[in-house]
Amino acid sequence: MKLPSFDYACPATIAEAVALLAAHGGEAKLIAGGQSLVPMLAFRLTVPSLLVDLRKLSELRQIKITDAGVVLGAMVRWRDILEDRLLRQAHPLLTAAVEHIAHYQIRNRGTVGGSLAHADPAAELPGIAVTCDADIVAHGSAGPRAIAAADFFRGALMTTLRPDEIVTEIRFPAWPKQRHFGFREFARRRGDFALAAAAVAFDEIEKKFRDVRIGAIGVGDRPLRLTAAERALEGRVISEAAVTGCAAAASAAVDPADDIHASGGYRKTLIGVMVERALRDAVGRPIV
Ligand SMILES: Cc1cc2nc3c(=O)[nH]c(=O)nc-3n(C[C@H](O)[C@H](O)[C@H](O)COP(=O)(O)OP(=O)(O)OC[C@H]3O[C@@H](n4cnc5c(N)ncnc54)[C@H](O)[C@@H]3O)c2cc1C
Repeated sequence: MKLPSFDYACPATIAEAVALLAAHGGEAKLIAGGQSLVPMLAFRLTVPSLLVDLRKLSELRQIKITDAGVVLGAMVRWRDILEDRLLRQAHPLLTAAVEHIAHYQIRNRGTVGGSLAHADPAAELPGIAVTCDADIVAHGSAGPRAIAAADFFRGALMTTLRPDEIVTEIRFPAWPKQRHFGFREFARRRGDFALAAAAVAFDEIEKKFRDVRIGAIGVGDRPLRLTAAERALEGRVISEAAVTGCAAAASAAVDPADDIHASGGYRKTLIGVMVERALRDAVGRPIV
């Protein structure tokens, strides 16, 4: 299907891009890699009067690793993340999740900012952002602001972004070197969106689970932190009973809707299985 007609701008600075958005009062759309936007245009799910292309904003392509954590610019692509060996060490859970995103061609163009702003509940990066307490930074006419990932996603394809705001980066807190983690995903074919995925992380202190994170993807209208499942593990000795109890709590905590890909009941069972498998990976040894 042919795209609707629109004007096109390719600003050289963030300020210029923000000014273009502000001047068009919600009628303009940003374009990053076009991986979600172009199909949406083709299906007339959005009909903007202006496309504002972010490709000249090279400052948005940076990956920064410091003692404070990891910062990914909005125009960083999946491929950039996967090819960065330092990032793999600095935030192994992030890299493990990005490995599941889409197919080769899409990973060459799909971006961090596009994924966050598109807010697909089955997308990996929003799930990791919520699981790891990341902050998403947006620049608008009122200046920059940092939004906690937990507050950023408002529903399927809905965020707290204002019409004149651009996501410029996402900041992950530093990853403790001894953290255990696991990421498990089930999709019909490798590279398809997840039917359900689980991200888990914890510290092991005196054989007990500490600072537990359990994130769930694809089982709600937004990425979820499963706090009841976290409580089922926090402070407990690492054991078979603790792991299976946490998986059951994860399944009980979600209420996914039926859709064309799977029934809600199937996804509810699946997230328990994904949490259990991710926890076993994270523990990294047989559990008794
Ligand atoms: C066949 C297919 C399979 C896929 N599978 C997966 C998958 O398994 N997992 C997964 O996570 N993703 C998947 N994706 C999504 C893909 O990885 C991209 O992340 C996503 O499409 C966003 O694309 P983009 O970065 O090109 O953004 P665009 O398509 O250019 O933009 C998407 C939306 O974000 C807005 N936007 C873009 N950049 C910014 C910004 N900096 N600030 C504010 N708003 C912005 C745009 O206006 C638009 O509304 C898949 C996509 C396709 C086409």
